[in-house]
Amino acid sequence: AIAVESVFKVFGRRPNEAVKRLRTGASRDEVRPFGTAAVIDASFDVRRGEIFVVMGLSGSGKSTLIRMLNGLNESTAGSIRVFGTEVVGLGAAELRAVRRDRMSMVFQHFALLPHRSVLDNVAYGLELQGVALPERTATARRWLDRVGLSKWESSLPGELSGGMQQRVGLARAFAADTDILLMDEAFSALDPLIRREMQELLIELQQELGKTIVFITHDLNEAMFLGDRIAVMRDGRIVQVGTPNDILTDPANDYVAQFVQDVD
Ligand code: ADP
Ligand code: MG
Repeated sequence: AIAVESVFKVFGRRPNEAVKRLRTGASRDEVRPFGTAAVIDASFDVRRGEIFVVMGLSGSGKSTLIRMLNGLNESTAGSIRVFGTEVVGLGAAELRAVRRDRMSMVFQHFALLPHRSVLDNVAYGLELQGVALPERTATARRWLDRVGLSKWESSLPGELSGGMQQRVGLARAFAADTDILLMDEAFSALDPLIRREMQELLIELQQELGKTIVFITHDLNEAMFLGDRIAVMRDGRIVQVGTPNDILTDPANDYVAQFVQDVD
């Protein structure tokens, strides 16, 4: 579904100079004078219908990586193809269309529209796609029902708990019916019990609808629970890609071995 090839992202004044040096083996610290190397030479494929987890400590480059997939961050170098279409180098209007029609995103802090009803929030992606009001309302109602929030359709997001707001975020993303869902620490702000409920709901929906999901987390147990495959990031680099079992039983290096020691 997604093919990422040798992608770099450097924030700063001389990104291309930094990439040149990183390509010849310089470290993140060595290129610091030219900028912050958030993502260094990332290559991986996301397969259709899988949950692909990107796991790593805070600052390892996960958000930057996922935001390059839908053009919220422009990559400094490399290639990203989504169902065969190159996204790197697309213009703003084309990227908006990719985000509208191809990839929905779910954020840690929900990013709901505060002055619109829960129902309108769920319908929002469909509105952007130009779906007519009666149809998008019907679809949004169906999704609200699916996530157990029918009673709340006229409420404002702020009247709901965090867990409920994230159900709205999930309903919005699924209602838009894009092939790919990008989720950046989507459950990280939730209490453990609610969080587990959301993880189970996500797996259920994914199995039912066959979505391709890229899910970011810094939480090892969440990664192990959700991931069909996991990419482990460290300091901007992907250090291993494998199934949860691969990562547990055959860690690529001491860093990964150390990381997975704490699995429940
Ligand atoms: P993670 O999501 O894994 O916590 P990020 O992708 O947010 O990591 O950040 C990776 C690195 O890039 C960090 O050092 C961060 O400070 C830096 N960074 C992220 N976004 C920007 C930005 N817009 N400008 C400058 N530096 C950034
Ligand atoms: Mg992040």
